[in-house]
Amino acid sequence: MDILIPEELTTTAVDRLNPRYRVVSDGGLWKDREKLRLAVSGARALMVRNQTQVTAKLLSAAPNLLAVGRLGVGLDNIDVEAASRLGIVVIAPLDANAPSVAELTMAFILALARKIPLADRSTKAGGWDRKGCMGIELEGKTLAICGFGRIGRLVARRARAFGLRILVFDPFVNPGLPEFTETQARHCARLEEALGEADFVSVHSPFTPETKRMFNARTFEAMKPGAFFINTSRGGIVDETALLRALESGHLAGAALDVREVEPPAGRAGFEALENVLLTPHIGAATTEAQTRTFETVAEDIDRVLRGESAMNFVNFARPKR
Ligand code: NAD
Repeated sequence: MDILIPEELTTTAVDRLNPRYRVVSDGGLWKDREKLRLAVSGARALMVRNQTQVTAKLLSAAPNLLAVGRLGVGLDNIDVEAASRLGIVVIAPLDANAPSVAELTMAFILALARKIPLADRSTKAGGWDRKGCMGIELEGKTLAICGFGRIGRLVARRARAFGLRILVFDPFVNPGLPEFTETQARHCARLEEALGEADFVSVHSPFTPETKRMFNARTFEAMKPGAFFINTSRGGIVDETALLRALESGHLAGAALDVREVEPPAGRAGFEALENVLLTPHIGAATTEAQTRTFETVAEDIDRVLRGESAMNFVNFARPKR
């Protein structure tokens, strides 16, 4: 077998690999660790979304594996370090989703500011509640961006066009980056500094041991009263119980969550009953354009690696070692 796809996946990009390679697709395979280990033992490439846990143990069971292609950008389901150790290149189209996620973030900011879901629901229900739908303008407000990477920077550009003032908290970026000048963003050395001034806080950092529940009772408390919180990054960055409390107490004016601590959520967390909370099912990258870019980029790189060339979009090292 050349390529193993252990998750549900239909795309023309993969179809194009079919005539050239022996592709095995089994949508439910990711659930059965034993069967998966057996299947991967013969594969030269593995293509996954976010369901398959690509652990060191799984990679060690795949002596012929040259590449793991991640059809998305979050790498929390892949042990990249183990892959590097084993000489397996991890392909991820890091730029493919960024415009779509940035646009969803702007959609959230606008929808929260103008109470669009409430206006829509109440009007469809026969109401004409202009008073209840009173909103705020973005012009002149402040947006704090936590994580100034690919998505955070695109959000800053778009937000700037709406007249928002930008604050950035990201301990790993150089405040001399041209994007700071371009968006007139101010670099904040401490998260609390950004939180205390912002009308909107949007999270765009990765999920790491440091960012786990970085938004908790203490950080929500540090946010300006009446501010809005938006998370399109990873659910584990937010303590959902603390967020719910901050919303229910009226400290925060609203929130939008595209990502959750557990996906899909195990039960109802309490947000469902709140008019000022928007919930979406991890749709940041769910656009035709982002999906096409993602699949094509990964499929092309898998093809390259299987032909003995080096991948163009990788996260661990410059060239596959075998
Ligand atoms: P990126 O790696 O380009 O940028 C992340 C930035 O976060 C970096 O600049 C990094 O320095 C910064 N960072 C790291 N640790 C930090 C910390 N402790 N505090 C503040 N900043 C920190 O990543 P990206 O491509 O912009 O993705 C951002 C997030 O969006 C990731 O969590 C990713 O998984 C998520 N994402 C979600 C969707 C979706 O469908 N909702 C789609 C794509 C990406």
